[in-house]
Amino acid sequence: MPMCTICGRLVLGLAGQDWTVLPWMVEPAAAEVPAGPCHVRCLADHGAAAAWAAAVEAYHCTRWPRWLAGTDAGVRWRLHSSRPARRFHLWRSDGRLASFPYAAIRPGPLQVATDLAELGSAHAAALLAAMGTDEPGVEVPLDTVLAALDLADRYPHGMGAVTRRLRVVGGETVDVLAVRHPLPLLPACRRAALELRNEG
Ligand SMILES: [Zn+2]
Repeated sequence: MPMCTICGRLVLGLAGQDWTVLPWMVEPAAAEVPAGPCHVRCLADHGAAAAWAAAVEAYHCTRWPRWLAGTDAGVRWRLHSSRPARRFHLWRSDGRLASFPYAAIRPGPLQVATDLAELGSAHAAALLAAMGTDEPGVEVPLDTVLAALDLADRYPHGMGAVTRRLRVVGGETVDVLAVRHPLPLLPACRRAALELRNEG
């Protein structure tokens, strides 16, 4: 079960709000951050979010060399585009990195959908207990789940819903817990996403 290396609580896997810090990402950073999953809030509380973002900046530029950039109230951001994967990788100097598909960019409020855990895992069991139901298709508000897991302070953008979904993939039924939640994106960043996507 992914537990935060800083606060010891569950890491859910929500775009822009948590991350898995890999060993190569922390070595160049001055801040002492253990490798592993962690909340971006914990990185910030630890005074390490900016150092960590700086450590992964060059990697983003090398791996996804197509980007548009801007600044928001002193925070530098760079939206990288991966054409083959049809995904965006948002880098921000404050450490609120996120990865989301081209398909998330559409008119109206932006949302991302993410599979959190496959049934049968300890992670799924913890989430089901927090949801209070294991019935497929029932949408449980994300803030309810966060409160039950004592995570409301780690995921301040708690809008959204968690649902148990049964999907048939290649003839096999996949039983997962999925979350759908808003993707907070600056207007300038959203325009950059449209421009990058329309380039191909
Ligand atoms: Zn944490």
